[in-house]
Amino acid sequence: LGKRRESLGETKQSSISNNGNKIMVFLRLRPMVRREKDAGGRCCVRIVNRRDVYLTDFALEHDYLRLKRLHDRHFTFDASFSESASQQDVYSTTTAELVEAVLEGRNGSVFCYGATGAGKTYTMLGTLENPGVMVLAIKDLFTKIRQRSFDGNHVVQLSYLEVYNETVRDLLSPGRPLVLREDKQGIVAAGLTQYRAYSTDEVMALLIQGNKNRTTEPTRVNETSSRSHAILQVVVEYRMRDAASMSVVSRVGKLSLIDLAGSERALATDQRSVRSIEGANINRSLLALSSCINALVEGKKHIPYRNSKLTQLLKDSLGGACNTVMIANISPCNLFFGETQNTLHWANRAKEIRNKACEVNEEIVRVPESETDQAKLLLELQKEN
Ligand code: ADP
Ligand code: MG
Repeated sequence: LGKRRESLGETKQSSISNNGNKIMVFLRLRPMVRREKDAGGRCCVRIVNRRDVYLTDFALEHDYLRLKRLHDRHFTFDASFSESASQQDVYSTTTAELVEAVLEGRNGSVFCYGATGAGKTYTMLGTLENPGVMVLAIKDLFTKIRQRSFDGNHVVQLSYLEVYNETVRDLLSPGRPLVLREDKQGIVAAGLTQYRAYSTDEVMALLIQGNKNRTTEPTRVNETSSRSHAILQVVVEYRMRDAASMSVVSRVGKLSLIDLAGSERALATDQRSVRSIEGANINRSLLALSSCINALVEGKKHIPYRNSKLTQLLKDSLGGACNTVMIANISPCNLFFGETQNTLHWANRAKEIRNKACEVNEEIVRVPESETDQAKLLLELQKEN
């Protein structure tokens, strides 16, 4: 029994390897949409060398013409994706390594952060033609499981849940709100559906259906509420026979993929009075997330995870023994300059978060006492396969 400590950065050599357990922060710029062009929007973001991001404030246009690009704010991230980046490119650069780590029994999480309309759901879920990180991660997971020659077996389980208005709901089996409980594995939502998945195709359909179950605004029945956070959890258990100790070793890795609610201020919404409770709660979850990030960046002992449902659920994904990736989504349009600037500042600060070393969750399930037991176990394993 016991846990092995090993950070992803130490074991894997990669161009974007995790340095000193800092979290990885990426930026994704989406293309300008028709509506923005029609409204006279101009592009205020430039990405250079897949890393550097320049933000132009057209309010300073007079100075701007005179001083050329002196006023542009400059940011840099582990990688920055321009509007032409493909879903596969975003997946491979941000998440593929985490999928590899999950197969080895480590935990990982990927967050999409940004204002409503910035491209979070496109990045995470995507469309049927252009599936996003959630789907590509599961596809990759099944491919990697098939490619490896193991003497054990894998079980992949999915759960998909929503935090809306400080209420947790099961997106795979909508019904009564779920209660959060603390058990030895951390905070869990009691009664949450654990869907055993066997192939990628069924998963895409499942996720699209799950996304339809996300809370919608009463006024815009076809659109997911910008106040809803969606979390897909993929748990991979790998059981193998350890010949040396004649026992069965179980490794469990968990990957959490999180499509956060819109980060714009609640005050900027149209139905101020009706939405005030929701607004306050959305602020509570996102504010709590920001407070946790601040506390983590400042190296505080106490991290206020308990302040919201979202942060309780993400306790082991942020600052814990886990590999963390943030994808900040922005629009290129100057009409959203304020939101874009806020997102860039937030992402810039997130670069300073340090997680604990990522552990392998390994457990010896059973130690057979005799040859007979060992033979029985072998049979069981073969049956499961
Ligand atoms: P959010 O979830 O952040 O509110 P969405 O993901 O719904 O935003 O994106 C808003 C719109 O922009 C959608 O119509 C989406 O299809 C489109 N979109 C977002 N990102 C991209 C992209 N990288 N390429 C093409 N279209 C995109
Ligand atoms: Mg969305």
